[in-house]
Amino acid sequence: MSVDLKLWHVAVDAPLPGALTYSAANFPGLQAGQVVTVPLGKRTAQGLALAPVEKYESEFKIKEILEIHPEYPVFPPAFLKWISWLSSYYVHPIGLVMKSAIPPLTKESKRKSKKAAVIPDAEPAKRPELTDEQQRVIDGILSKPGFGAHLLFGVTGSGKTEVYIRLLEQVLSEGKQALVLVPEISLTPQLLRRFVNRLGQSVAVIHSHLTEREKTDQWWQMVDKKKQVLIGARSALFCPLENLGMIIVDEEHEPSFKQEEQLKYHARDSAIMLAKLSDCPIVLGSATPSLESYKNALDGKYHLHRMEKRVENRPMPNIEVVDLKSFGRKEKHERDSEERERVFWLSPPLEEKIRDRLAKREQVALFLNRRGMAQIVVCPACGETATCPNCSVSLTLHARHHLVCHYCNFQDKLTEECGNCKQGELRAVGMGTERVEDDLKSLFPNARITRADRDNIQSREALEEMIRQIENREVDILVGTQMIAKGLDFEGLTLVGMVLADIGFNLPDFRAAERSFQLLMQMGGRAGRHLDYPGEVVIQTYNPQHSSIQYAQTHDYIGFAEQELALRRELFYPPYGRLAAIRLQGTNQSAVINAANAIRNQALVMQKTYPALKTLDILGPAEAPLAKLRGNH
Ligand code: ADP
Ligand code: ZN
Repeated sequence: MSVDLKLWHVAVDAPLPGALTYSAANFPGLQAGQVVTVPLGKRTAQGLALAPVEKYESEFKIKEILEIHPEYPVFPPAFLKWISWLSSYYVHPIGLVMKSAIPPLTKESKRKSKKAAVIPDAEPAKRPELTDEQQRVIDGILSKPGFGAHLLFGVTGSGKTEVYIRLLEQVLSEGKQALVLVPEISLTPQLLRRFVNRLGQSVAVIHSHLTEREKTDQWWQMVDKKKQVLIGARSALFCPLENLGMIIVDEEHEPSFKQEEQLKYHARDSAIMLAKLSDCPIVLGSATPSLESYKNALDGKYHLHRMEKRVENRPMPNIEVVDLKSFGRKEKHERDSEERERVFWLSPPLEEKIRDRLAKREQVALFLNRRGMAQIVVCPACGETATCPNCSVSLTLHARHHLVCHYCNFQDKLTEECGNCKQGELRAVGMGTERVEDDLKSLFPNARITRADRDNIQSREALEEMIRQIENREVDILVGTQMIAKGLDFEGLTLVGMVLADIGFNLPDFRAAERSFQLLMQMGGRAGRHLDYPGEVVIQTYNPQHSSIQYAQTHDYIGFAEQELALRRELFYPPYGRLAAIRLQGTNQSAVINAANAIRNQALVMQKTYPALKTLDILGPAEAPLAKLRGNH
């Protein structure tokens, strides 16, 4: 078969399932990986030249490529293969995948942004002597050049970041570049500084809070090889690096590595594929590996590296579990005699420990994965609850009279009288971070209290300012959602309280237990990281026997993983089985139901036709957990 070099497959920025064919007659030197401009209908579009066409059979008239974009470099072959893999594996138009790999603005280096620096200034930092565990892990990883997936399973405070830094130093010394992926929420100046202090000028960063100019500049710094280490949230994967020497994925278990909109991809899994195509090692780090990764390590697909001790033999935190049921009963019994109404969500043991820390001028963090004052506003006379007109959820009370839908931001005013029966007086039930903050203010009037949740912290600047205040000991008690459970590292923090651990247990997700366990373990990781005596964690719960709590209390990841994997195997859930969901949405409910039924019937027909599909279980259709969202069923 003769290769006609004049015709090319081009991934065009448009929602088309595959690449289009164009003629490169005017550009005999065109190479795979070049960015081109092509005509598309009546407009022009950007495209990526993928490969020459081997055989073209179609009566369509071939259009000419208009220009080779003068600015962009040739995308490396491994990266091109990766783009094609993403498109086919995640079933997304290749042109739209390609678009993620092109920076939002054109290159232009004259104008300097006057805003705060994207990369914090380096501060002098010493290079610690490695622990035996760290040294063993580093030697183990560096002894295997080329592609290999390494799971670094190290308890919180075992010094994983130091391991990353040493590995990065090695990559730099070989003249290569590296990619470090971290969850968006952990990508704080605090974390960046740890890398910059040691790796200096070689660090670039990409995350979703940068301006388009900043993002474009950082992209070019890497592509022009002015910087060597790109630290970023999942989107940093799309920076085409030619000489990739290593990929590191920190907190590899984090669900936020999965993008649920547009290109629905998992950044950790995609990073493994990129490492494979680039033939470089990839390191997945976590104190609580995802069960998928842990099983891959058990099966020998990943190299397992363990760090079981905190550095300098610092102890693991003490975890106390408080059974809220026992306090509930006592309160009822004493209600008549006791004048003072106790803050209902705060158990005496936790309250006492908070007082103790405040007296010692140490810091406290309380977590609750619910925002606002109350989750439900209900009429005690007729049972009517305030719900969102666009979504199938109840409205959350904020401040005294402000009702908000947490999904679509619909807002309403709380009236005293029930709009339904015109008799009852609406009552707020439940609690959230705002309520916790309010109650703490009246319980501890002299304490400096701050709240970290999406209502209070709406910008990156606000988050950074809050972190600065905590570091400077301008805050005594921090109240927050899981926004603050991850990755933060404060010297004065010695007590962490989980206000109500039960919230995560019953989510309609087969990973609910895993998520709860991870959250509890991560939280414990926040306490007493710099102390010679253990930090403390108090978990308040109505289900003290729940396995996530039991295993977290003894820091027993392996015990948890064994039990949970056994369950998953029995139910044929991942990592044993695979699940695919077909999600439909529309404003007309019966149209959505009809379409869902039609798809089910079609699936059954296909299963009868193709023997390979015999082993599939076809479930549903079923209503989504949120049956209506922003007006869509
Ligand atoms: P992890 O990421 O595993 O939770 P970190 O990397 O944050 O742990 O390390 C915990 C603390 O120990 C940090 O303050 C870090 O600077 C310090 N550290 C790391 N390695 C060493 C070492 N070899 N000697 C002394 N301190 C260390
Ligand atoms: Zn809504």
